[in-house]
Amino acid sequence: MSLKQDPIVERIASRPSTLGEGLTIHRALPTRQRRTVGAWCFLDHLGPIEFPAGEGLHVGAHPHTCLQTFTWMIEGEMHHRDSLGSEQIVRPGQVNLMTAGRGVAHTEDSVSPGQRLHAAQLWIALPRDMADCEPAFDHYPSLTQWQQAGHTFTLLVGRYERHMAPTRVYTPLLGMDIVADAAGTCTLALNPGFEHALLALEGEMQLGQEHFVQDELAYLAPGPDQVSLTLGAGSRVLLLGGEPLAEPILMWWNFVGYSQEEIRNAQVAWTSGDPRFGSVPGDGGRRLAAPAL
Ligand code: MN
Repeated sequence: MSLKQDPIVERIASRPSTLGEGLTIHRALPTRQRRTVGAWCFLDHLGPIEFPAGEGLHVGAHPHTCLQTFTWMIEGEMHHRDSLGSEQIVRPGQVNLMTAGRGVAHTEDSVSPGQRLHAAQLWIALPRDMADCEPAFDHYPSLTQWQQAGHTFTLLVGRYERHMAPTRVYTPLLGMDIVADAAGTCTLALNPGFEHALLALEGEMQLGQEHFVQDELAYLAPGPDQVSLTLGAGSRVLLLGGEPLAEPILMWWNFVGYSQEEIRNAQVAWTSGDPRFGSVPGDGGRRLAAPAL
């Protein structure tokens, strides 16, 4: 393959969805066209949103299985509490990573009502042999950052060139935030064994000759070893990558699993208040109900 040739790019519109108490967000994964990028199986872009005085994001206690929740904070602060007893505020430039394994529950709340909020929230499917692992919570207060060609790169997950992220994941994955301090074009090195996706979180982007507006997902199948990315000043892009999943996952509500039985068991356990998920200290009795199967 000629290095000059543009990779084939699939264009996927994100869809508006509702989070917590009526906050509209953009959901870029899963969509009808594409359910996963590597083990990345869920991508919500929250905000940037200006809350009215006294208001904020509040998501009551809800369970997860067989996945990791990944929060990348861009503006504002969110307070995470979970059934392991973890309590952590995540601030701009930081990542919260919760490994659900066999089951965990958590709440998420704005720290300061009326504060502007901007974040990306993702899920990472766990491989089958980790599906029942002990739940865990990790906070990464700072991540590897570097400047190149007028852009600021922050490595969130995996490896890029000589850089390596500390985040604990269980399949080959990449996550990177790219901010254009000045308008310009850079060449992104790609792992040819990975599929990739790029999403403009602010501004717009051009991949090769193709233009993408904010919240429009660009998907690249495995193959190319580089792509050219052009950004206007102030634009911000999220780059995801990973080895295509070896076997399909099932996703239903807040659960990932490898069989309908696993999903059904999780739904029954949460609905019946089974100790599998524990309880979130300080959740104020807010508990989200699982829909009927
Ligand atoms: Mn959650």
